Amino acid sequence: MTRPGSLVDSHGRILRDLRVSLTDRCNFRCLYCLPETEAAQNFYRGHWAQMPDAAPIARQWVPRTQLLSFEEIERVVRLFVAHGITKIRLTGGEPLLRNDADHLVGKLAKISGIEDLAMTTNGFLFAQKARALREAGLRRVSFSLDSLDRDNFKKMTGRDGLNEVLQSIALAQELGFAPVKVNAVVIREINDHEIESLADFAREKNLSLRFIEFMPLDSARAWQKEMVVTGKEILARLQVHATRNTQPAGLIPVQPDNPSSTSKRWSFPDGRGEIGIIAPVSEPFCGHCNRIRLTADGKIRTCLFSVTEHDLRSRLRTGASDEQIAAWLREIVLGKEARHHIGEPDFVAPERSMSCIGG
Ligand code: SAM
Ligand code: SF4
Repeated sequence: MTRPGSLVDSHGRILRDLRVSLTDRCNFRCLYCLPETEAAQNFYRGHWAQMPDAAPIARQWVPRTQLLSFEEIERVVRLFVAHGITKIRLTGGEPLLRNDADHLVGKLAKISGIEDLAMTTNGFLFAQKARALREAGLRRVSFSLDSLDRDNFKKMTGRDGLNEVLQSIALAQELGFAPVKVNAVVIREINDHEIESLADFAREKNLSLRFIEFMPLDSARAWQKEMVVTGKEILARLQVHATRNTQPAGLIPVQPDNPSSTSKRWSFPDGRGEIGIIAPVSEPFCGHCNRIRLTADGKIRTCLFSVTEHDLRSRLRTGASDEQIAAWLREIVLGKEARHHIGEPDFVAPERSMSCIGG
């Protein structure tokens, strides 16, 4: 139902979900996001892509003065919530690199109208901050975990951090974050051999594990379609694995809890754990996308693959009123892209990569 004042695009989609990036910085170098390690470069050079020879990385982080302050973020979130947004996800870069992220969570948790306040993190620093985040009012957390093998984890993330991430996931469960979700990006010939063990891990630990197709959002622009393991292929393998092993009845489809859900879900017959498959490349869900993004430097993006960003920060810093900003947002939302064009001849990758956009 459309609430008065809701943000509606020209395709009739009502926006409910705001992703807020707290920083573009990251303490990991995932090879699908910031492929700056030798291992990442070796992988890409050896696999389909035409990677240039290793060159020193000349990327610059967004200067701190250009990052939105917590007060600015709080104001923007209030404005969005007054216009129908009910879900807020804090992301990055690595959101926990932003000092005192729990203070922001505390401010946002008090805003009435937010039904779901969540965070996506790589988990490396989470254990140190988990209690403060929980006390501040964070209810849900999603972790990235692409490998259960220490060496492969390091190859994929550029950091020897598997133990820290596993400890963080266990602590999140212990502290009552629910549901605890784990995201794994699957890349052919890197971690596709771990699909089954990741699913077993989900069942064993009673987690929701979501397999995500690799999207062309890496900073090296080295993505190739051959690297994508499609959702269909992942599911077929998991069904065979489930039937062969502990679950003769196979995986059971779970009805989506909302029509804008990006993942298709399956449960194990014994009711422990869940599998989700997010297939934006092979089975796009743009038709019911209800998301909008705020980058750490205050740009609004109406699609993950937008090639245009809209400058909110300058409006916030030059005295625009809430009414003026709301009118401007309504205009921008009207222009939300109908769909992405991955795999089509006219596809243009966004200038900034996933860590800057906010996944
Ligand atoms: N640093 C945090 C983390 O990794 O969870 C939050 C930001 S990260 C950009 C958010 C999500 O985007 C992660 O789950 C990550 O796996 C996913 N991601 C990053 N690059 C991707 C890509 N090229 N294709 C698909 N998913 C990607
Ligand atoms: Fe960092 Fe997350 Fe990107 Fe990995 S996926 S490099 S953890 S922002």
